[in-house]
Amino acid sequence: MALNDLINAKNQIPLHASEFGLPYGMGRSYGDVGLNPDGLLWLTSGLNHFIAFDENTGLLSCESGVLLRDIQRLFIPRGWILPVTPGTQMVTVGGAIANDIHGKNHHAYGSFGDHVKYIKMMRTDGQVIEFGPNLNPEWFAATVGGLGLTGVILQAQIQLKPTSGPWLDTETIPYTNLAEFFELADSSEQDWEHTVSWIDCLSGGGKGIFMRANPSTSMKTVMAKKTKKMPFTPPISLVNQFSLKPFNFAYYNLQKYRSGKGVAHYEPFFYPLDKLLEWNRMYGPKGFFQYQSVIPREVGYDATKAMLHEIEKANAGSFLAVLKTFGNRQSIGMLSFPQPGVTLALDFPNHGDRTLKLFERLDSIVEEAKGRIYPAKDARMPRELFEAGYPQLQAFQQYRDPNISSALSRRLMGS
Ligand SMILES: Cc1cc2nc3c(=O)[nH]c(=O)nc-3n(C[C@H](O)[C@H](O)[C@H](O)COP(=O)(O)OP(=O)(O)OC[C@H]3O[C@@H](n4cnc5c(N)ncnc54)[C@H](O)[C@@H]3O)c2cc1C
Repeated sequence: MALNDLINAKNQIPLHASEFGLPYGMGRSYGDVGLNPDGLLWLTSGLNHFIAFDENTGLLSCESGVLLRDIQRLFIPRGWILPVTPGTQMVTVGGAIANDIHGKNHHAYGSFGDHVKYIKMMRTDGQVIEFGPNLNPEWFAATVGGLGLTGVILQAQIQLKPTSGPWLDTETIPYTNLAEFFELADSSEQDWEHTVSWIDCLSGGGKGIFMRANPSTSMKTVMAKKTKKMPFTPPISLVNQFSLKPFNFAYYNLQKYRSGKGVAHYEPFFYPLDKLLEWNRMYGPKGFFQYQSVIPREVGYDATKAMLHEIEKANAGSFLAVLKTFGNRQSIGMLSFPQPGVTLALDFPNHGDRTLKLFERLDSIVEEAKGRIYPAKDARMPRELFEAGYPQLQAFQQYRDPNISSALSRRLMGS
């Protein structure tokens, strides 16, 4: 059965074999990696079946449209958890593989692809290819982090990790400058599985809140909190120069007041934004960009300081600003984003030229530091920066499916 027939049968959407397409998960990528203007999107929401689970080994086989949320909710009560999970659980297994997503525990568990044992993928000519870390490993390296461009992932086998339950022992520590952040990150790597920090992007010196957590054996009961929704799109961004400073001031001081040890359920700890549906509407009709870079550790302090300085000078950024370190491990995928170093991720309300000009200055800092930008969060990086940041790009190109293309691939790879 050819790819179009398969997806068509599952989704009952009429497709035309002549048009080029792109696999589509939950559309949770920020930029244009999952967009295909003038082409087709192959929705994988129909590929949503669990196939097998070995409760002795934690090996899970499922179709690629299964949501990480459903894996967590089904298997955590059975003593198994996803080893790597991003800041939202509303993503598919296919999307998690295609962007080789990372979580708050990169230093301990790497990225998503490190835990994938097998992939079954269909090319647009109908050919089905099976691969894994030890089976056709070159296809594995191209498809993990392959931005959906090598074929449609149909199924995957993932190694889950044993867990004692849904709770985490947490510690929240305010820091007042970047040097303190790095000290905290370094000293936490050994004993804490999850580390992440919120940074006040307008504080100049790099003031923020450091959070770390480990799986807990706590037996608290879950008090389900209601999910809220942004009720409408405001005519202008609610994140602006008037709201940002007071918000950051209030948030920092509230978290400082609440700092110390605690116990948290995994959902609010891992996925705080999932509690406010359609939160992106708060940026108003012009929307926002996210800018996420990773900078090698040796120059991480200076480059992060320089980026924060530019952001503060431009009076830009948002309260959604995250700073964390990646562990000293290389990623499997030819185009995987994580590399040893420090990663800064920030939302920016879209102010047109003003915002794009700021990004150009941030790009220069990233380029000089020999860092890279995360394609899953990008809609505008220059092609030269992409090529410099991803030295295996040439090798990757030979695994591309000729009938798959995205707005991002046309922008950064020419097709
Ligand atoms: C609030 C929030 C927090 C986030 N936090 C993090 C984080 O901490 N770490 C992180 O790494 N990312 C993070 N992300 C980004 C998100 O995890 C990734 O963009 C993820 O890949 C989205 O998955 P998706 O199912 O929505 O895929 P989509 O966005 O629909 O697609 C992403 C890519 O995967 C490809 N794809 C999808 N399904 C398949 C398939 N079956 N076969 C082949 N290719 C496929 C698409 O073609 C596309 O290139 C966050 C996003 C949000 C909204």
